[in-house]
Amino acid sequence: MTVSTTNGRVLIVGATGFIGQFVAEASLGAGRPTYVLVRPSSGNHSKTKVAKALQDRGAILLNGLANDKELMVKLLKEHHIEVVVSAVGGEKILDQLSLVEAIASAGTVKRFLPSEFGHDVDRAEPVEPGLQMYKEKREVRRLVEKLGIPYTYICCNSIASWPYYDNRHPSEVIPPLDQFQIYGDGSVKAYFVAGTDIGKFTMKTVDDVRTVNKSVHFRPPCNFYNMNELAALWERKIRRTLPRVTITENDLLSVAAENRLPQSIVASFTHDIFIKGCQVNFAIHGPNETEVSSLYPNEPFRTLDECFNDFLLKVEDENPKQSDEIPTPKPVVEALAITATCA
Ligand code: NDP
Repeated sequence: MTVSTTNGRVLIVGATGFIGQFVAEASLGAGRPTYVLVRPSSGNHSKTKVAKALQDRGAILLNGLANDKELMVKLLKEHHIEVVVSAVGGEKILDQLSLVEAIASAGTVKRFLPSEFGHDVDRAEPVEPGLQMYKEKREVRRLVEKLGIPYTYICCNSIASWPYYDNRHPSEVIPPLDQFQIYGDGSVKAYFVAGTDIGKFTMKTVDDVRTVNKSVHFRPPCNFYNMNELAALWERKIRRTLPRVTITENDLLSVAAENRLPQSIVASFTHDIFIKGCQVNFAIHGPNETEVSSLYPNEPFRTLDECFNDFLLKVEDENPKQSDEIPTPKPVVEALAITATCA
């Protein structure tokens, strides 16, 4: 079955960010003509380095701001951009309103993927301050729909890592080595997806006719874990048991209520996932939604087990002394994963 309509030019907004990098790398890896919108230099050396690395791999860098409508219309037309993927950060969601208007004016774009990369924001109802971000993501959705731009909403659930309740990029942190903080009774399940897979499957959807005007949910059965199972998996890797501390529903709500950003937003999402079960309390059967593993049944996901092996290698790299007590995982193939981390 032919599901792809085009291999057109892709513009990625936010490619120097956490999620955007995975998307840009996947786009380049798939051999697509990849354009990257880079904000005028903020003097941030690491961002400049990321942009340069993408350029070295073949990306074409365009300078500008997503919220500069006039410029965006010009860039989209000039470069015949057919797909726009946005991964602007949570605090910049509304910058996309001008981008959406520019896409409608330019008339070249056949698919737009706004910055989502989490839960179904029309369905989930976290406490504040997370709810505010969802309201803004909803506002972007409504404008996209009103202007008749073909879209795909990526609902990729959690990133493969230990889900620290106060870190917006938890996969950059090694799972606990002292004690586990377990949310509630630790029995509520969630889906964990490696960053590389978020990029890979996002790029598969962008010109798939089956994903036009749909929310695409990521529910890889191999990565369906609750906190207790996650803790047991990590204990098997480090070959020792760790004490468990309970973080209650009220603890999470208190951190959310402190309104410290971004920690309180993460706490409100953590509450939604591991107390209320927002990733699992609905079935995917609406006409405007689909599930990614059923779309691409022959395309494997990195397993959480593999991702945790990556973390183990990082423990050894960062703390060789401590690693004397933590034996290396045996399979030779897993050593290859050192460059392809789940972060
Ligand atoms: P980051 O803050 O890491 O990166 C944001 C990117 O957007 C940067 O490249 C930034 O540029 C760029 N940007 C921001 N504003 C503009 C603008 N006006 N014009 C052009 N570029 C702009 O974001 P995240 O990767 O953390 O978040 C991206 C999305 O992913 C969000 O929707 C977030 O909610 C979601 N997310 C999901 C996670 C999950 O576990 N499922 C985890 C983390 C995020 P610059 O480099 O110049 O700052």
